[in-house]
Amino acid sequence: MKKVYNFSAGPACLPEPVLEKAQKELVIYKNAGMSVMEMSHRSNDFTKIIESAETNLRKLMNIPDNYKVLFLQGGASSQFSMIPLNLYKNGKADFIITGQWSNKAMAESKKYLDVNVLASSEDESYTYIPSVEDIKVSEDADYVHITLNNTIFGTKYNKLPNCKNIPLVADASSCILSEPIDIEKFGIIYAGAQKNIGPAGLTVVIIRDDLIGNAKPETPTMFNYETHSKANSLYNTPPTYSIYLANLVFEWILGLGGLQKMNEINIEKAKILYDAIDNSSLFKGTVLKKDRSLMNVPFITGSEDLDSKFIEEAKQIGITNIKGYRTIGGMRASIYNAMPIEGVKLLVEFMKKFEEDNK
Ligand SMILES: *Cc1c(COP(=O)(O)O)cnc(C)c1O
Repeated sequence: MKKVYNFSAGPACLPEPVLEKAQKELVIYKNAGMSVMEMSHRSNDFTKIIESAETNLRKLMNIPDNYKVLFLQGGASSQFSMIPLNLYKNGKADFIITGQWSNKAMAESKKYLDVNVLASSEDESYTYIPSVEDIKVSEDADYVHITLNNTIFGTKYNKLPNCKNIPLVADASSCILSEPIDIEKFGIIYAGAQKNIGPAGLTVVIIRDDLIGNAKPETPTMFNYETHSKANSLYNTPPTYSIYLANLVFEWILGLGGLQKMNEINIEKAKILYDAIDNSSLFKGTVLKKDRSLMNVPFITGSEDLDSKFIEEAKQIGITNIKGYRTIGGMRASIYNAMPIEGVKLLVEFMKKFEEDNK
C-alpha cells in the first residue's frame, strides 16, 4: 500500500528519512548486537543515545546552561499535575485560557492551589488569543500558565505576556521545534512528544534550575522534578525507544538547518493552505487571522454534509485524518514539521477540485 499524507493532530506523521534510518537500525543497532528496544537504559550504547539527544536538543533550541532538560513519561497531561506540585509557594497561579488544554491544565492546578484567570477567549469559542498587552499578573502568583499553540482551535501566541519575575510556564506540545523561541522568557516549557518531537511515550520538560527542588513534601517521587533532574532522566526506565527516535528527529532538523530554517518551511506550508482557504468561496477559516497557528489549520464549508463528503473523498486520495476535533467538527489539517510540502500542495489541489465539483 502507498504511504498516505497523515494530517493527524497527534500522534502525527514522522519524517520519512527518520523512519527509514530507524528501520535500518531496528534489529541491530550499530555494534550493539541488539535493538535499542532491548538495551539496558544504563548500557554504554543507550547512555550515548540519551546524551546525544540532550546535546542535540540544547543546540537546536539554544537552551542556556541554567536550564535542565528532562526526558519523562506521562504525557503533557501529567505536567498539568507536576507543575502545581513543584512550583507551589504562595498557593496561587495565574492562567490565560485559550482552549481545552489550558482549561485542563487549570483544573489540575486547582486541586492544589487557587487559580486566577488573567484572560480568556471562551466568549468567542476560543477563536482568538486574548491581548496580553494590559494583563496584570498577580504579584503573589507562583507561576503564570499559557498554552503556546492551541492544537484543537488552531491559534497561537505571537506575543508573550510580561510576567516580570513570575515564572511563565508554557505547554508547547503542538509547536515545540516549529520555530525558534527565547527559552529565557520561560520558567518551564513542556511538550508531549507525539506531535513535533517523535513517537508517543516521551515528554520533554525544559526547566530553569531554581524551580527544581521545592516540591510539596507529599509529592510522589516520580512527580518530583528533582528526582529526574538528579538522575539525568534515568531515575527509572525512561521511554528508551522514543528517546532514540526523538534524537533522530533532532538530527533531521539540524540537518535541514535548525529551527530558523524549519520555521521558514512551516511559514511557506501554512501560507499555501491559508491562501487556499482565503481565496475560496467554499472553505472558511475559523479563527482570527492574526492568531492563526502554523501547525493546526481548522476550516469549514459551513455545511456538515459537505464537510463529511470532503473528509471521505480526501481519504480516498491519501489525505487522512483531517476531520476536526470530535467536539468541534469541520476539518483540521495538522501540518507539523514532518508534513512534507507535497502533502499540503495535494490537499490544496483537492480543495480546489472539490469546490469546482460542488458548485
Ligand atoms: C496533545 C496535547 C496535550 C495532551 O498531551 P498528552 O501527551 O496526550 O497528555 C496537551 N496540550 C496540548 C497543547 C496538546 O496539543
